[in-house]
Amino acid sequence: QARRLLAGLVGRGITLSRTPAMHVAEAERQGLSGDYRLLDMDAPENSGLTLAAVLDRAEADGFDGLNVTYPFKIEVIDHLDALSDNARAVGAVNTVVFAEGRRTGHNTDLWGFAESFRRGLPDAETSHVLLLGAGGAGVAVAHALAQSGVSRLSILDSDTGRADALAGALTATHPTFRAAAVGDAARLFDTDRPDGVVNATPMGMAKLPGTAIDTGLLGPDQWVADIVYFPLETRLLAEARDRGCRVLPGSGMAVFQAVRAFELFTGRPACPDEMKATFDAF
Ligand code: NAD
Repeated sequence: QARRLLAGLVGRGITLSRTPAMHVAEAERQGLSGDYRLLDMDAPENSGLTLAAVLDRAEADGFDGLNVTYPFKIEVIDHLDALSDNARAVGAVNTVVFAEGRRTGHNTDLWGFAESFRRGLPDAETSHVLLLGAGGAGVAVAHALAQSGVSRLSILDSDTGRADALAGALTATHPTFRAAAVGDAARLFDTDRPDGVVNATPMGMAKLPGTAIDTGLLGPDQWVADIVYFPLETRLLAEARDRGCRVLPGSGMAVFQAVRAFELFTGRPACPDEMKATFDAF
């Protein structure tokens, strides 16, 4: 078992990430030395560096692994030796583990959403769920829902090609799971009302205010999860709660993806409540 954590996050525009603080605090709480570096490809000192060079250097410097975020989650796959089942299903990697000269890619966003959903919305009705957004995060959330007892998924994305492609990929990976692209939320709520809604579009972020569906469609028979966590309480969640829905904020996915990554980096279990407390302290 590790006596120290040495890891980092590679991406663009990551200066406000809470992931380093979660990892360092958890390492120190467990009596390990914690060193978690931001490898911001937008920073002047990294200009001209390629993703391949960042991975080579981290591996040579003895890093346990790296977290990978926008815009490298797909590109990084070309630089790895192996993928976990979840990373292969999603087609994206957010955690790379270096061990014995091999680089293995994992997708802890998938487990992060699944675990947040399991703990935060226990006993949620899951016969039919509407997923908003089939981009990078939406794909991970869709596979998480397929692994979380959801029977049927409707997928709405303003880019209909993305929704169609995700529906096809899901049914290929999970043969008993049903998934279909939909074009009109109001019609769906009228004719085939979902039990729950998950927002994986960026709508509701501080810089993109609003909601991807009309919240007037929602009622107390439904639950609503958002994966946007900046702000923590999106307009979608506030209005869904006002309409009597059970709600799940995006912070859970952000915390649990880090919990699983810590375990992969160190081989030691992490404490979700402690990591959540660090996340909330920001
Ligand atoms: P992305 O750009 O890859 O995908 C977003 C998708 O939403 C696109 O396919 C786009 O066409 C679609 N979309 C946008 N507006 C829409 C609308 N009004 N109606 C229907 N579809 C619409 O982005 P991403 O990387 O998937 O991230 C999405 C959001 O999830 C971001 O806000 C990000 O911060 C958040 N996120 C949260 C976590 C977490 O841990 N909680 C993890 C990853 C991403």
